Amino acid sequence: MISAAEWHQRAGRVRAQWAPFIGGRAYDGAGLTTVPLINPATGHPSAEIAEGDGRVVDQAVRAARAAFEDGRWADLKPSHRKRVLLKLADLMRVHKEELALLETISMGKPISDSLSIDLRAASDCIQYYGEACDKVYGEVGPTGPDDLSLIVKEPVGVVGLVVPWNFPLLMACWKLGPALAVGNSVVLKPAEQSPLTALRLAELAIEAGLPEGVLNVVPGRGEVAGKALGLHAEVDTIGFTGSTEVGKLFLSYSAQSNMKRIWLECGGKTPNIITADCPDLGAALEATAAGVFFNQGEMCTSASRLLVDRSLAGEVVERLSDLRRHWQPGDPLDPASRNGALVSDQHMGQVLGYIGSAKSQGASVIGGQRMMRDTGGYFVEPTILHQVKPVMTVAKEEIFGPVLSVIAYDGLDEAVKIANDSFYGLASAVWTRDISVAHRMARKIRAGIVYVNCFDADDITTPFGGYRQSGIGRDKSLHALDKYSETKTIWIRL
Ligand code: NAD
Repeated sequence: MISAAEWHQRAGRVRAQWAPFIGGRAYDGAGLTTVPLINPATGHPSAEIAEGDGRVVDQAVRAARAAFEDGRWADLKPSHRKRVLLKLADLMRVHKEELALLETISMGKPISDSLSIDLRAASDCIQYYGEACDKVYGEVGPTGPDDLSLIVKEPVGVVGLVVPWNFPLLMACWKLGPALAVGNSVVLKPAEQSPLTALRLAELAIEAGLPEGVLNVVPGRGEVAGKALGLHAEVDTIGFTGSTEVGKLFLSYSAQSNMKRIWLECGGKTPNIITADCPDLGAALEATAAGVFFNQGEMCTSASRLLVDRSLAGEVVERLSDLRRHWQPGDPLDPASRNGALVSDQHMGQVLGYIGSAKSQGASVIGGQRMMRDTGGYFVEPTILHQVKPVMTVAKEEIFGPVLSVIAYDGLDEAVKIANDSFYGLASAVWTRDISVAHRMARKIRAGIVYVNCFDADDITTPFGGYRQSGIGRDKSLHALDKYSETKTIWIRL
């Protein structure tokens, strides 16, 4: 295993200057605004990024359009596209330590998670969609003996992808995999805080044999580069993961420009319901602690609302306050650390602000402090808010930090009512030994994912996405291919 000291040495050797990647090569960053990339564990810069503006986004879209129109990728045999994507997945595994390090110094998660979770899942995702290239068939319509009707899938053209910083490479791959598998060309805009793995991935894609111009990466500010991509008339589809607020902006960009299709994976406020007949309270609470504290709580599916039968509330809070000790933050480059730093000073301020608001609205707080201040990093201790009422801000808004709100309920009907009292609907969970209760509640909860007696179960083969304002469309699984495909009907009179 690589030691913390060795990881720190490697961090010191990371490439200092990064620029957009367009048409198969690094873009000449001269004239672009350069911004420092701040390491959230130290508050110091670890690299410099030349950020793209509207002009650079336009060049990236033109490169993607040219690559699409001449068919250098879209017209390849699917088995050829498969070989390239499988090679890319292999290269991601070969370079997993380098990519994991870039992820950790950008957004602060523990290096062991970057390696064993993000890099594993991201390379498996590219492999899955690579394998899918030549396994998906078109259809023949049941239109009678005098006609042959073919229903074929085609790539939409130029796809713009805009992703967040909490799982930078993985969120990009959830979209890149299906978009590339069906033959699109892509312009990817990573989050301001975490562009390095996307830029490195584009280099590896060229090494894997992806033709130039098929994958372009433009780091830049959301309201500049993201907006330019959203408004661009030559972009046919946007795949977005991020906040609901920005997701809505993309719907308006589409309306203002060319009615491009918009697919959104947005925020969540997961209700995690522990019933009075929970089969194994210990297991439920361990999963709850992991569900809310893992990745510093910077999870769209974070188990942020614990709804617990009132008879269990006291015991649950006591046991969780013990469990939270396993999730104390540490140096993200120490392989023993289970938690790292929040992504930025500003985000830490927001999380601490939510904790303050809970206090002032009458909740009780366990934890709630900034930690490891001497490092200069943005560390917050795992925090439990109890005696939370469903009307409080912390019960309604997404905190996106290591903060659990515990809400007591009386009866299952009330639990479902509180669970559904949200404009989000991404994930949810129910803990019960009664199969009928499990099934009924799973049907009544308005969410794209329901975990029963587990939390955060995950597999690339299952769809991921939300109801209501948690999004439009699904990532992962073969269903995701539809987002990046057009459906064409061809009639042949016989
Ligand atoms: P964000 O919405 O601030 O940013 C996401 C992306 O949008 C970034 O690339 C950003 O640069 C860009 N952007 C920001 N403002 C923009 C604008 N005005 N126009 C165009 N683009 C703009 O989100 P974030 O803070 O990076 O990520 C956290 C959010 O992501 C949370 O709400 C979380 O729930 C959500 N998320 C959802 C999923 C999911 O699958 N449902 C997964 C991970 C994260």
